[in-house]
Amino acid sequence: MNRIALLTSGGDAPGMNAAVRSIVRTALDKGVEIYAIFEGYQGLVDGGERIRPLGWNDVGGILHRGGTVIGSARCDRFRERDGRIEAALNLVTNGIEGLIVIGGDGTLTGAHILRQEWPDLLADLVDSNQITMERADVCQDLSIVGIVGSIDNDFYGTDMTIGADTALHRITEAVDAISSTAASHQRCFVVEVMGRHCGYLALMGALASGADWVLIPEYPPEMEDWESKMCEVLRLGRENGRRHSIVIVAEGAQDRNGVPIESSYVKKVLQEQLGEETRVTILGHVQRGGSPSVFDRNLSTLLGAAAVDSILENRSSNEIPVIGMRGNKISHTYLSECLSRTTEVSRSIANHDYDLALKGRGGSFASVFDIFRTLQRAYPHDPVPGQRRLRIAIMNAGAPSPGMNSAVRAAVRLALDKGHTIIGVRHGFRGLKSGDFNELRWMDVNGWAQLGGAELGTNRFVPEEGDLYAIARNLEEWNIEALLVIGGGSGYFAAMELYEQRNVFSAFNIPIICLPATIDNNLPGSELSVGADTALNNIISAVDKIKQSAVASQRVFVVEVMGRYCGYLALMSALATGAERVYLPEEGVTLSDMVDDVGQLITGFNQGKRLGVIIRNEKANETYSTSFMVDLFEEEGGDLFDVRQAILGHIQQGGNPSPFDRIMATRLATASIDQLELQMESTEPESTCAGLQHGQIVFTSFDIIGRLMDWENYRPREQWWLGLRPIARVLAQPAPKGS
Ligand code: ADP
Repeated sequence: MNRIALLTSGGDAPGMNAAVRSIVRTALDKGVEIYAIFEGYQGLVDGGERIRPLGWNDVGGILHRGGTVIGSARCDRFRERDGRIEAALNLVTNGIEGLIVIGGDGTLTGAHILRQEWPDLLADLVDSNQITMERADVCQDLSIVGIVGSIDNDFYGTDMTIGADTALHRITEAVDAISSTAASHQRCFVVEVMGRHCGYLALMGALASGADWVLIPEYPPEMEDWESKMCEVLRLGRENGRRHSIVIVAEGAQDRNGVPIESSYVKKVLQEQLGEETRVTILGHVQRGGSPSVFDRNLSTLLGAAAVDSILENRSSNEIPVIGMRGNKISHTYLSECLSRTTEVSRSIANHDYDLALKGRGGSFASVFDIFRTLQRAYPHDPVPGQRRLRIAIMNAGAPSPGMNSAVRAAVRLALDKGHTIIGVRHGFRGLKSGDFNELRWMDVNGWAQLGGAELGTNRFVPEEGDLYAIARNLEEWNIEALLVIGGGSGYFAAMELYEQRNVFSAFNIPIICLPATIDNNLPGSELSVGADTALNNIISAVDKIKQSAVASQRVFVVEVMGRYCGYLALMSALATGAERVYLPEEGVTLSDMVDDVGQLITGFNQGKRLGVIIRNEKANETYSTSFMVDLFEEEGGDLFDVRQAILGHIQQGGNPSPFDRIMATRLATASIDQLELQMESTEPESTCAGLQHGQIVFTSFDIIGRLMDWENYRPREQWWLGLRPIARVLAQPAPKGS
């Protein structure tokens, strides 16, 4: 295949530009010409100037921009066969053999129809003498590949669609902001979010922001008089000390009879039944806008590269593969299946089969809905008589990581709702040693869902042998039967030390769970840890700004990021910002690397480059420090460019957790409480580490965890994300000759 094209269509979604950049550069790197079709299907129908080749540098500097630089449009003409004949003619006359289509279900339906009709469209063009028979024969094998760009996350075939994570960022930012003003005046707020058929944004937004009630299309309130039930819960919440009430309504929310529930109606109900001043905020297009999150940039980049690979392999198939992400792996699902499974959910909603609709959303949707319904309660359920009631201690350990509070809140509330007693341990293992314990109740964790830092206090203290006796005594005194440690490496280390000593101190012979919470993402048993996503977003917002300042003055920045001996933050932030070079502790730094880099920078700046960004992990190499690199580049760059350093430091650990971290923390914490209960019933209770693997929550025994860890370098032996290095390298290289 020599020439492929791409288009973005339908509602724009933040992250589409990263996909455009990745598709263009991957294709050019493979020696394939790439054309952009501007303004979606409208451009395909119009042809002419709207279909033109893109070069390597045409897609520079767009990663951080929202929307789509090649334009999108709604095109009624493409819905008609006549319009599609014109589109077919434009594809044929431009010699386009493959087409990558990025858009939502409407766009992909259009692509499906185009591919189904393709042989007939060619025949029509031959009949009307617009192309020759020979030409039609050569063009029979149009390959199409789809990528889902939609902020609604409403499409089967991928865990996440491009734009959904960024939209969640916008929603949580808005609800966090509304919460503070609402709390000051003890007000009710109704927040309407997008999602005509899909409650993903509403549900995840509600979970992430700690809202009090959510209304989604997939699962309308069960009771006839849901209005009174909602008001009663909100009233009780106030009685129990909440200072505001927030109800999140999806655009497409409806009741069990299929009657739409509008935000204005919810407002009226709240005002009438609670007698409280209630305000409505309709977030609207704010949700579509703004700079894409790290997740969306990297998702789009990976999907774009995989789409090019797929189109080059998949010649002559009339099935369209949709490139998606399952867990952290690329998936290919036929569009016909995706469309029918997506329609099934809408059909279930229309048929009032809401259990099926919830299930049809797949992934963690249904379980998150259940979790939300517990967390939003005003009080826990009354304990079930005769049920075993555990005493669970919960603590943070290691450096603070955004999302620790979300995890503690979820664990406390879920455990209390099951009738257990929760003991909070303050200040990590130091507090475990000194007996800094207190019981945590439902409202003690109110407002913690969105709070950065670690309210319980945390530090890197690891007990020594002489401390163990005091810890054992405290655990015994407080009758602790299970322990949940939410934290990073030193927390894992300390927890395992207790486990090792369980034959010496019987108080340690209890099930322990470690929940991964560190920005470094350097823990075994989980592909991701709570806090890393927030840190990455902190890094890219800083790097985006640095890049803007650098472009003004011919400058190279060496940006040092955290991560200790794990290069996750460095590589993922480099991928998301298009940094020219990234230095990882896994690879180290050599003098010849730096000489090569200087050479590349000099060539680049001589050809008109105006800025350079190099990301260096803090421990990439002890000798070749960040300041050493800066001096070297500065000296060698001469008058061509200045070099500056930016050590981002603790900015990376701070701020409110990202929606992804809040949601992951909540899911892991609730699963951990279930797991502790399960272990308590077992004759040989196990101690485990919670984690996320291939999108699923898993628990790995302490006995295995030790072997998965490279203790010398303090990172897991296997790190999945190292496989992304080639893509980062290819996309950030200078333009190859001729492109
Ligand atoms: P999205 O792709 O975000 O769902 P739309 O539903 O507006 O957005 O679809 C985008 C474009 O895709 C439409 O303007 C139209 O050109 C094309 N399209 C949508 N549905 C069809 C269809 N059934 N047949 C042909 N083209 C369609």
